[in-house]
Amino acid sequence: MKDLRAEIERRRLEGLFRERRILEGPQQPEQVIESRRVVAFCSNDYLGLAAHPEVAAAFRRGVDEYGTGAGAAHLVNGHTRAHHALEEELAAFTGRERTLLFSTGYMANLGVVAALAGRGDRIFADRLNHASLVDAARLSGARLMRYVHGDLADLERLAVRADADLPASAETLLLADGVFSMDGDLAPLPALARFAAEHEARLVVDDAHGIGVLGETGRGCCEHFGLDAGDVPILVGTLGKALGTSGAFVAGSNDLIEYLIQTARTYIFTTAMPAAVAEATRASLRLAAAESWRREKLRALVARFQEGAREIGLTLMDSETPIQPVVVGDNERTVTVSQHLLEHGLLVPAIRPPTVPAGTARLRVTLSAAHTEEQVDRLLKALTAD
Ligand SMILES: *Cc1c(COP(=O)(O)O)cnc(C)c1O
Repeated sequence: MKDLRAEIERRRLEGLFRERRILEGPQQPEQVIESRRVVAFCSNDYLGLAAHPEVAAAFRRGVDEYGTGAGAAHLVNGHTRAHHALEEELAAFTGRERTLLFSTGYMANLGVVAALAGRGDRIFADRLNHASLVDAARLSGARLMRYVHGDLADLERLAVRADADLPASAETLLLADGVFSMDGDLAPLPALARFAAEHEARLVVDDAHGIGVLGETGRGCCEHFGLDAGDVPILVGTLGKALGTSGAFVAGSNDLIEYLIQTARTYIFTTAMPAAVAEATRASLRLAAAESWRREKLRALVARFQEGAREIGLTLMDSETPIQPVVVGDNERTVTVSQHLLEHGLLVPAIRPPTVPAGTARLRVTLSAAHTEEQVDRLLKALTAD
């Protein structure tokens, strides 16, 4: 039997021990964590909607109308008018025929991938894809082939090998994050869409960090690249990041969604999200679509951080999104810098392997429209002092 305590101790020694911090109050830049007042630069609440009064009010109204728990799966009697309306509004927002709600992004990825691929099929995936896409591919039982991050030539090489020994009837999926969650860079979506068309592969794009943030009107990475439903037929979005609530959706054709309703196990065998969460999300979706100042402010803060970081000689990654990691490299050194920032009242967690590849431990700085310029400047100053 595995010695659990020894395993934990090993993690401690290797600088890989993970700890939770207890947050008092809502998700917003100024927080109280472990009785310490901090400015947090690590939330995915990119638009500052997670504690927005209108979203909270919609949530409360939702509780008044629907109660707290959905009480059953969507296919039994847990699918309320609120869920249905949100699905329709998300379809309009993403320019897809239909969408389907899932309780989390993790479950959406497991559900869609395992519904579309199985034993005897093949899945191509970027090596830096989110853990939920990797697990989804493994769960499906299909052959998983991972290409070097963002490298189309490597993907083409894998495809040649893959084509050799699987039957002609094999399904092919191509899985990509729209925005890579730990690096902040974008997948080369136009090229991936071309590859998918040439190889009769279904392209699944997980736009957890793009929805609400990227593109003129916040429609995400597809809008950013000028791609439509023909190019990216299967789009996964999450509600717990820029939209400030919880849950996820898959957007696509009528046939895709109907097929998922029939077959996606993480859709069928689980309780629907509370209807009040759907009502809150309808409110945040309206705000995210209508208030373009949030995206503009976010872009300005990102530019300010990048410029300031350049001036003090920090190594940033090739990212134009609100995810702006500062690469340190060594695990323990990264933890030390993170602690130093905490002493200055700044919360920027150290991200270490296995979340990121060995030797690339980093401070994952994320910016939000709710931050002020002064807060960004304070972070830059503390990073200089280090
Ligand atoms: C956060 C995230 C998920 C998981 O979404 P949850 O709703 O938090 O389960 C999936 N994919 C990516 C790329 C993510 O960043």
